Amino acid sequence: MLLSFKYKLRPNRQQSQKLTQWLDLLRATYNWCLRDRIDGWHQQFIMGDYCDLKNQVEIMPLSCSLVKGTQLTNPWKDGGGKAKKEGRENKSPKRTASLMQDANLQELKDARPWYRDIDIGVLQSIPARVNESFNKFFKGAGFPKFKRRHDFKSFSYKPGRVKIKGNKIYLPKVGWMRFYNSRSIPEGFEIKTVTVRQKVNGWYVSIRIENKTVPDFPVIPDSEIKTITGCDMGLSKLVYLSDGSSIDNPRFATNKKTKRLMRIRQRRVSRKHKGSNNRGKAQLKVSKLHNKIQQRRESYQWDAAKRILERSDAVAVEDLQVKNMMKRCKPIKSEAGRFLSNGQSAKRGLNRCIADASWYGLTQKLEDLAVKSGKKLYRVNPRYTSQTCSKCQHVDKDSRNGEKFICANCGHIDDANLQAARNVKIKAIETYGLNIVKLIKLKMVRRDSPKPVQLSLFEAELCKRSPENTPPKGKRCVGENPEYKQLSLWDIKGEIS
Ligand SMILES: [Zn+2]
Repeated sequence: MLLSFKYKLRPNRQQSQKLTQWLDLLRATYNWCLRDRIDGWHQQFIMGDYCDLKNQVEIMPLSCSLVKGTQLTNPWKDGGGKAKKEGRENKSPKRTASLMQDANLQELKDARPWYRDIDIGVLQSIPARVNESFNKFFKGAGFPKFKRRHDFKSFSYKPGRVKIKGNKIYLPKVGWMRFYNSRSIPEGFEIKTVTVRQKVNGWYVSIRIENKTVPDFPVIPDSEIKTITGCDMGLSKLVYLSDGSSIDNPRFATNKKTKRLMRIRQRRVSRKHKGSNNRGKAQLKVSKLHNKIQQRRESYQWDAAKRILERSDAVAVEDLQVKNMMKRCKPIKSEAGRFLSNGQSAKRGLNRCIADASWYGLTQKLEDLAVKSGKKLYRVNPRYTSQTCSKCQHVDKDSRNGEKFICANCGHIDDANLQAARNVKIKAIETYGLNIVKLIKLKMVRRDSPKPVQLSLFEAELCKRSPENTPPKGKRCVGENPEYKQLSLWDIKGEIS
């Protein structure tokens, strides 16, 4: 089993300075390696197969050192080592770009001795990172970018280098450092890759731990799923559930109070001189507020995910393309060539709300928790979920009017969002062929309910109060209180949902 734990570090002043310095040096190495790879890439693929860009000499396969990625050091494998001893030829006589950059690190350390202060594993991870971003690019991701100070915030140690003892962690070449041991690493787990990350409120470390003897969380087969909850993500409420309930959306970044505070702090930044210390201080306050908002959101979403998963064996969510939903409106041009209003200013507010709700993050958390708690998450196509009638399955655009849903076919009236949540549930059952058990819903009616409820004669018999089921005076009988659970203060009315 492979797990990941996160802790906050407590470096002293020297250690903190050292870590910051490392980040700068590593970033410089990253950018240098990237520049080298980009040069190699252009030479081969854009400028033609030239050995030298300046005089455009054609490449000679045997004598020229041109390779796909880099122009550093010796591009050829030396042919020695294990392969030669065993009498077999290397598959490719050329070294890969990341291998070449890796071999070049020694030269770097000779030329710039201050790089020797950095752990070699950490330094070696940099060409690997460049290589990874290029591999992603070859598979269709964007072209690798140079890193600036704000987007290069972490470095990793290789497995087996970091040690932990009590509330102290040993980071090679930095030394023993205190940390907040907020949860202990389970016994038998060994420490794998360790990533140190700088955030606005300090340094954090995330530790991958593994124990091969412990099996992974079991995957539940679809046939074992008995109950399922459909979820519809929204903005006025964060999640609407198919059982009729919903979870509030606190709007951590877009509520009035936070927006005002953010505006004030951002204005303070803009009024300071560029490059001044005061501007830096003001900027730090903005970053801290962003961090606070993010932490609040994370915490709330974990809680929400837990509450959603408590209800049933499985959860169905829409497979939303949030990125597409947050696109800008297309510009509208008049015949005279002037731009007309296209509603972008309203869309901007909506986009901010969507980003604030962070549906994707919530879905990720749901998935993560579901795996850990032996439950399952199903993703369904979000198409027509808000236009379909859950009673008669009639699809009509006119059925929905804002928050209201009135089926154009059968006249079924419902809340549009809850209706969508039910559709998600139905869709998940259909697409994955689930065998859902219909539950008998017990309707609770309080005796002292302000609204009188007409009970049948049989049920009226049940709710007679006898001396033994009367709670003591001064104490209210609450449903969750185990002490009074057996009391029939609640009248139970059976109803098939
Ligand atoms: Zn209908």
